[in-house]
Amino acid sequence: MRIITHNMLKCHVKNCTDPNKQFPLRFKDVQLEQVEAERNDEFLVRMLPRLDWPALLKTSKELGMGLPESIPENPGEDEEFLQAVHTFIMETHVKEGSMVCDGCAHEYKISNGIPNMLLAEHEI
Ligand SMILES: [Zn+2]
Repeated sequence: MRIITHNMLKCHVKNCTDPNKQFPLRFKDVQLEQVEAERNDEFLVRMLPRLDWPALLKTSKELGMGLPESIPENPGEDEEFLQAVHTFIMETHVKEGSMVCDGCAHEYKISNGIPNMLLAEHEI
């Protein structure tokens, strides 16, 4: 699972509705893998408004990865910025581990790069 996907996932357990806690999910015991991918600056610039930057920043710190504190004024012309974002959201893959919700403590397992977002019947 790429980090760009994680930035769009929130807890969907019934009654877990505090927006400050159900997102972003906190990574736990993760195994990361860097997979080289071709950089598409147009795509990255288009994605920026759709990303939750504070959440992305929080996640990057959790994982010990570097990311600029904020989006520069002209992100499309900032080589260093584009590369940092690309490396983090497109090339960083979570292979194993889990994501924990701070609201309800539900743990979403990640196995072989695939997050299991399924819930038990009583959680739906
Ligand atoms: Zn939750």
